[in-house]
Amino acid sequence: MRVRELSRRDFIAMAAAAAGSALVPKASMATPPQDPVVDTMQKNGKPVSYEKVPWKVRPFPLKQVRLGEGLCKVAMEADRRYLHSLPPDRLLHTFRINAGIPSSAQPLGGWEAPDCELRGHYAGGHYLSAAALMYASSGDEDLKNKANAVVAELAKCQAALKSGYLSAFPIEFFDRLRNREKVWAPFYTIHKIMAGNLDMYVHCGNEQALNVAKKMADWVAGYTDPLSYDHMQRVLGTEFGGMSEVLCNLYAVTGQEQYLEVAHRFDKRLFLDPLAEHRDELKGLHVNTHIPQVTAAARYYELTGERRYRDIAEYFWDEVVGERSYCTGGTSNHESWNTDPGKLSTELSTNTTECCCAYNMMKLTRHLFGWSPDARLMDYYERTLFNHRLGTINPEDGTMMYYLPLASGYWKTFGKPFDSLWCCTGTGSEEYAKLTDTIYFHDDDSLYVNLYIDSQLEWPEKGLSVKQETGFPQAQGTTITVSAKNPVQLGVNLRIPYWVQGGSVRINGTTLPAFASPSSYLTLNRVWKHGDKIELNLPMGLHIHSMPDDESIQAVMYGPLVLAARFDPVSKEMTYGDYEPKPGDQYKAPEIVADPSEPTAWVEPDAKQPLLFHGVGQSQPLTMVPLNEVIHERYAVYWNVNRKAV
Ligand SMILES: [Zn+2]
Repeated sequence: MRVRELSRRDFIAMAAAAAGSALVPKASMATPPQDPVVDTMQKNGKPVSYEKVPWKVRPFPLKQVRLGEGLCKVAMEADRRYLHSLPPDRLLHTFRINAGIPSSAQPLGGWEAPDCELRGHYAGGHYLSAAALMYASSGDEDLKNKANAVVAELAKCQAALKSGYLSAFPIEFFDRLRNREKVWAPFYTIHKIMAGNLDMYVHCGNEQALNVAKKMADWVAGYTDPLSYDHMQRVLGTEFGGMSEVLCNLYAVTGQEQYLEVAHRFDKRLFLDPLAEHRDELKGLHVNTHIPQVTAAARYYELTGERRYRDIAEYFWDEVVGERSYCTGGTSNHESWNTDPGKLSTELSTNTTECCCAYNMMKLTRHLFGWSPDARLMDYYERTLFNHRLGTINPEDGTMMYYLPLASGYWKTFGKPFDSLWCCTGTGSEEYAKLTDTIYFHDDDSLYVNLYIDSQLEWPEKGLSVKQETGFPQAQGTTITVSAKNPVQLGVNLRIPYWVQGGSVRINGTTLPAFASPSSYLTLNRVWKHGDKIELNLPMGLHIHSMPDDESIQAVMYGPLVLAARFDPVSKEMTYGDYEPKPGDQYKAPEIVADPSEPTAWVEPDAKQPLLFHGVGQSQPLTMVPLNEVIHERYAVYWNVNRKAV
């Protein structure tokens, strides 16, 4: 057994050494599979070999990880019920009408309404991705069958449209796009439909869906072929989602290089060039238009080895996470970055932090972690998961939020089940279907436990299963039990979060003499036997997250959790249907009079109930709980804290 204390620098040095040793790859390591290829059902069992830069650490196929009870399971089950509630004929209605196929189904509303220019993005896109991911995460055969039926009907629509084009809106939208006439976001929608079909292939083995996606890609090639470079750059002035990413992924599972060439046409130079040169010119940009372009850059790097694209992704991540994110991990205000780096104190409103942005930043984070497994990446992932993703799906009906308001005194608003179907409904439907995808990563010789979520992992190649039992974050730690057919040599890397205050680890009841620094991985390297048990103790405490440009504006956190004061409940009418609460309808949260450097000066934990807190010495009583527990009440996250009343 080897236990050592790892600082972040040690860890990076170790990772670099590991990279060096990989220069003489073992046969099985030459082309390890990775997202999305890790989940592709290979007919002949051979790994796909189109990755130029394999991830050093990689996730397990979704089907090998199952959630136990807890917040994540509640969110996933709400999502699963919601996906089941969507009738296939209603999903297909506008696709059929557009293809000249009769349909008498009741149209869906919101962004799927027959007159909405984004129609089809959810019905033929996010829905398929979410169903595919949910099947892989839960084994829900019924949902897979429904989604397979939708694919079969979409294929009929595509055949009727003849050219390979598949959409719920007329092809003339693309004439408007080419002519730079007003149109919402045609390629954004096409991306969702292509990704949905590709996910149905990757996770459910649906060959017809792969065929649909390939025909769509061929149509995209035909549309973009005649456009000059400059003309295409102008076309990229209209939001186009992750077109490059899905084309990269299509190449990754088929090996057909033309898809990589078409992907490259979606490089928006005006956005990517400054990032490659490490210049933050993000001010003024629409956030969720651009994050997917960086994930696409990450994917392009992995498939081509062109370092420029890795630089883009890493610099962008540092700027967004370090300079432009709130305490929740969310980013954007009024859907944009409106300020210079590090200026957020003026950026609190009813429509801060669009949910899609959190989804897309988490997705990007997985790529960076795959290249270099740095604990700070997973610290960010945990922050965003526990504060922005949990708590933005309504556990009662699976409806989802658009913005997570961070201005004080407002409330959470959720979409209507059949009459909203926003972008964030789409990314949310996917998110809660894949909450298992980042808990564990691995390389050939070690396991990474990134997140403390009750779950079970099967690792048949090692003859291992790993059970993680935890009530985290109510419980401050986790217990991991190994089941092994035979004793197995393995490094188990436990993430020691940035927020930990102390901490210890026990193996089979014996406390180890060493621990690791916050924001690093603790490596337990030994021969693991059946029944071996790791007990990890991660004490939480109160700490402050201040605005980078104004230390008196601050949120209080407890461990990974953003705390919110909970005020009066709001009515059902106020909860459903709007993107955001009414900007004027604000409950005035009190100013806090206390030492701004010390959260315990004005907040204290309840003597009995975990994750309940009370204000101390303020003008009115305050009850605080994790933001993710607030669903139907007004709340406040950020406070003005001063030594004297101002
Ligand atoms: Zn959105």
